Amino acid sequence: MTASKNVHGKRGMDLIYDPLTNKGTAFTDAERDALGLRGLLPPAVKTPEQQLLRVYDNFRRKTDPLEKYIYLVSLQERNEVLFYRLVLEHLEETMPIIYTPTVGLACQRFAYIYRRPRGLYISAHDKGRVREILRHWPYEDVRVIVITDGERILGLGDLGANGMGIPIGKLSLYTACAGVPPERCLPVMLDVGTNNQTLRDDPLYLGLDQPRLRGKAFDELVDEFVTGVQEVFPKACIQFEDFGNTNAFRLLHHYRDRVCTFNDDIQGTAGVTLAGLLSATRVTGKKLSDQRFLFLGAGEAGIGIGDLIVTALEADGVPTDVARRQCWFLDSKGLVVRSRTDLADHKKPYAHDHAPAKTLLEAVESLKPDALIGVSGMPQTFDEPVVRAMARLHKTPVIFALSNPTSQAECTAEQAYTWTDGRALFASGSPFDPVTMHGRTHVPGQGNNCYIFPGVGLGVMASDATRVTDEMFFVAARTLASLVTDADLAMGRLYPDLKRIREVSAAIAAAVARVAFDRGLTKMARPRDLAAHVREQMFSATYPTWA
Ligand code: NAD
Repeated sequence: MTASKNVHGKRGMDLIYDPLTNKGTAFTDAERDALGLRGLLPPAVKTPEQQLLRVYDNFRRKTDPLEKYIYLVSLQERNEVLFYRLVLEHLEETMPIIYTPTVGLACQRFAYIYRRPRGLYISAHDKGRVREILRHWPYEDVRVIVITDGERILGLGDLGANGMGIPIGKLSLYTACAGVPPERCLPVMLDVGTNNQTLRDDPLYLGLDQPRLRGKAFDELVDEFVTGVQEVFPKACIQFEDFGNTNAFRLLHHYRDRVCTFNDDIQGTAGVTLAGLLSATRVTGKKLSDQRFLFLGAGEAGIGIGDLIVTALEADGVPTDVARRQCWFLDSKGLVVRSRTDLADHKKPYAHDHAPAKTLLEAVESLKPDALIGVSGMPQTFDEPVVRAMARLHKTPVIFALSNPTSQAECTAEQAYTWTDGRALFASGSPFDPVTMHGRTHVPGQGNNCYIFPGVGLGVMASDATRVTDEMFFVAARTLASLVTDADLAMGRLYPDLKRIREVSAAIAAAVARVAFDRGLTKMARPRDLAAHVREQMFSATYPTWA
């Protein structure tokens, strides 16, 4: 039999060693003959379903989450289709392993569990050579890049080059949740050093042993990266991830109108939270524009959410300054008010005229917010007096304890329901188990960013969008909220079932692409059926026939 070509031009062991072409024991007899594989595999040909049984069994037999993570990553390195099949079939079990909370532990242990490289490493020593490094990447049509400098990994602080676990995990979610093809995803670690001395003293640490680059040198390296991407991967969207607070806001403001970029910590969080607030309006009957929001925490997440609420209110015809006055912030120094002289730039638009308040309880009593949103990283700050005050002030108080991981949540689901007599509309950043009270079971919604960013990325990719705008996150939030059913709301859940994530992402992608076409943010001709066009782009975790 003559050897046949396949799309990657590979044969024999090269096919088996490439996770994008490998089918393992599922290579058919015809493929084994045509592609020089005969004898390189055990003789039995297995179906993908049989392979799935084997890998799921292996996954289940590991009892330690980090061992499960190592198993999944090594499966991903061997066979991408089988990896995504496993992840998708068992999303609720695998998601907390490939992403929070286990990915945090995997980052902390990165140097110890390291096996094979994945993604690109660009270090402070590579100045002047960034384009050359980008060209080393073996895939040409990169569409989504997730880059971190590891300065603020989840709630774990500066993890330096160990932070690479985050871009890898986030991009796995792009593929799992929205079907962005794996070869179009590129994780990048921008290693500018670390101020974490414990890491620098660790002989196994894999990053640069130097303090963090700051100032002009840092900006020049980032700029070399951003301009290099425009040249080497001109259709790529750059997602900045887990940069420190100051750099995150600065880089977003500097690049958002120049290139196709966004920051998930700021804008993705905002999208998912706004969706939860929109769902809540269906229960409370209160319009968004009639509500007051009080945030505990005025960082990337808080200000991002505030800004998107303002965008949503503006779309309803509310003037910007009025919309901003509906959002109030309390940071570690107290209520953000105009008389304060210590405010960072990102907080200033929300510094209103009001008497200072030192405590959250004081602020709740004086502002009587309809919704309390925790994004402070400070556990148990929504204490009993605060939550009871919310319950006294409102029939259906909205309480979102978004800080991650679970141990950092401002309050637990059980506390929120208990202290409000089951009346709270509660959502959290990390998952909480359902709570049964007075014969009624409340299912807390998880405001997981994976409801938003994969769909946004897919929409940007499907439309060749040149920018990512606030309007895109607004329509993403609105679309997500529209997919919440009455049955979801009846059990207190403000988000759709995670099992529907692909449908959710496809709908968000179509809405985002529509914005790109409507606003002239693409040169692509508008497809007649946008939803069908989006679906055609999605990776389906099924083996192609190679011969
Ligand atoms: P950040 O460091 O940018 O901001 C934290 C803010 O909290 C700062 O304004 C700080 O002043 C304030 N703060 C600290 N201690 C405080 C205290 N005792 N009282 C009041 N305010 C205090 O961090 P971030 O990126 O905004 O993330 C904050 C939290 O939100 C983290 O725990 C993160 O895990 C969580 N988060 C959740 C989601 C989600 O649920 N989807 C998404 C992103 C971030």
